[in-house]
Amino acid sequence: TFPQSNLLQQLPKQFFASLVQKVHAVIAEGRDVINLGQGNPDQPTPPHIVAALQQAAANPTYHKYSPFRGYSFLKEAVATFYKREYGVTIDPEKEVAILFGGKAGLVEMPLCLLNPGDVVLVPDPGYPDYWSGVVLARARMEMMPLRAENNFLPNYEELDERVVKQAKLMFLNYPNNPTGATATQSFFAETVSFAQKYGVGVVHDFAYGAIGFDGKKPISFLQTEGAKEVGIEIYTFSKTYNMAGWRIGFAVGNESMIEAINVLQDHLYVSMFGAIQEAAAVALLQSQQCVYELVATYESRRNTFIHAIREIGWDVQAPSGSFFAWLPVPKGYTSETFADLLLNQAHVAVAPGIGFGEHGEGYVRVGLLTSEERLKEAAERIGRLQLF
Ligand code: PLP
Repeated sequence: TFPQSNLLQQLPKQFFASLVQKVHAVIAEGRDVINLGQGNPDQPTPPHIVAALQQAAANPTYHKYSPFRGYSFLKEAVATFYKREYGVTIDPEKEVAILFGGKAGLVEMPLCLLNPGDVVLVPDPGYPDYWSGVVLARARMEMMPLRAENNFLPNYEELDERVVKQAKLMFLNYPNNPTGATATQSFFAETVSFAQKYGVGVVHDFAYGAIGFDGKKPISFLQTEGAKEVGIEIYTFSKTYNMAGWRIGFAVGNESMIEAINVLQDHLYVSMFGAIQEAAAVALLQSQQCVYELVATYESRRNTFIHAIREIGWDVQAPSGSFFAWLPVPKGYTSETFADLLLNQAHVAVAPGIGFGEHGEGYVRVGLLTSEERLKEAAERIGRLQLF
């Protein structure tokens, strides 16, 4: 056997792997588990996008290496999409990088811009994959607490200025995983000023960009004046179009950051299967009816679930975006002991907040990724434990 490199050994443990194991152990006992612990969209890719892939797969051109840095038609579709959806002008050749899923871009970004010891500001709680790239780049992570009283937005004033002065990069993510919070124009404007003042590059993870509730469409970071001078936005097809298995996304924004991603990717890949690129362009350019229906489905699930949870006496806030609910753990439990209790006694799997960082302690994350019937049943099962 070959020992793993020191670098690999420093990577954080994949928290969700242990959660999956626990869930499988309970299923193996013959229990009907309602699994709300993971973030895997449950609905199929819209049929017109699947049909576009099937048709494009027959094109022999796509069976060869696709062009480095992706087909221009897809980058142009990205520019059209950003103009149409957000009123943002993008140069398709200089300001777009095609990604093998959002996760790849998020992990690559620290490798692209950081030297060992550089500081990265990371939201806590936050999506754990931000940590991986930071470790691979041998950079240092500084957490930005997200607190309920600040609507889960970081408070830049609370950060230690000596540390902030060493920061080269920061991650943000709205609509937010795990808290379900959304950003405001004024927060993004504050972010641009902060980034300009300290010379920090901003990576805004817009994975849930399509999913905002109560008629409020989530705003793009790039809609903020000056945003393109300080950062990029990472978009993925996984959630908006239920294409998580396809592994495709893109980064848009700051030209030098996009060039850095492209340089790294020139060494890692050639480019993605052309047929996937063609179907992705179809997703961006054709009717967005499927997206409106997707948002309506999640909103209806949210309403049903939050109502049922409040009915059992659990005092919770409704998320304003994403497909997650972030629920406070009752007194006497940690996020992990509470998640274990729900799994073992109610057969409902949720993700313990501690898996998203120290400030995630005291919460569990619920994915609204099953039918309203099952969500209601999950609330009823939890209600039977008489904890509230
Ligand atoms: N960012 C956030 C906040 C996510 O929750 C996810 C997926 O769960 C991703 C990025 C990555 O998505 P993908 O790699 O499928 O594009």
